[in-house]
Amino acid sequence: MSFNDYHTHTTFSDGRDSMSTMCREAVSLGMEEIAFTEHAEWVNGRTGFFSHPPDYFHVLERNQDHFAPHGLRVLSGVEIGNPHEHEKDASLLLSSYQFDVVIGSMHWLYGENIHNINCFVNRDPIKVYQDYFRESAVMVRNFNFQILAHTDRIFLRGAQLGILPTAPQIETEVRDMLDALIETDTAFEINCRLLSARQHWNTLLLRMLMWYKEAGGNKIVINSDAHQTKHLPMNRDVAADLVHRAGLKDAVQTHLLSSP
Ligand SMILES: [Zn+2]
Ligand SMILES: [Zn+2]
Repeated sequence: MSFNDYHTHTTFSDGRDSMSTMCREAVSLGMEEIAFTEHAEWVNGRTGFFSHPPDYFHVLERNQDHFAPHGLRVLSGVEIGNPHEHEKDASLLLSSYQFDVVIGSMHWLYGENIHNINCFVNRDPIKVYQDYFRESAVMVRNFNFQILAHTDRIFLRGAQLGILPTAPQIETEVRDMLDALIETDTAFEINCRLLSARQHWNTLLLRMLMWYKEAGGNKIVINSDAHQTKHLPMNRDVAADLVHRAGLKDAVQTHLLSSP
């Protein structure tokens, strides 16, 4: 089955493969659209990985020309970390360049990267989850972007620590985040990279999708967050099963920017 992808990384940020290598793989997988959404972060005054947008756009245009005859549309993009906390810098980046896809990510909580265990150290884990979703809602309401990335990424370390919440413990905060997505017409991303077989995590994600459906949500994107070619097709079957079980199959945006 054919698919498109609006969240991938290359050597322009922390990806392993070059843009042209990713494009070649996308063509061989039968994809019609791929967006390269490199990281932009401003924590500690540092402009993250994405420090040379002109080079990125130069290479992007070359790949657009090269792969168009192969039926692949190559889109520009950026994944901005906590843009609501770096509004001036984030707005400047977005007004300086024409990005097709803008992804917002809650990568930071209490000044700690959420991929790092420090978020949980000396804190009540349930409060960490609640704070994460509460702050995600603030970010969605206060900065404009098209896709909220990996809505469930805070579960990564929690799952490893064996301290995932129950659904009722996070329901209020998650429902409010979902309302924020619907109010602002921001897409809910199912991020495939870490989906696989983590049972309780997937159960929580399914519950989030069911709440989203209940609230009237109808805009889901299934993205790989690929950091190398082999990530591109990963776990799409798991994501498809989740949206099917949540009754949200029709909400999946297979062509975010163009018609098929
Ligand atoms: Zn991310
Ligand atoms: Zn990413």
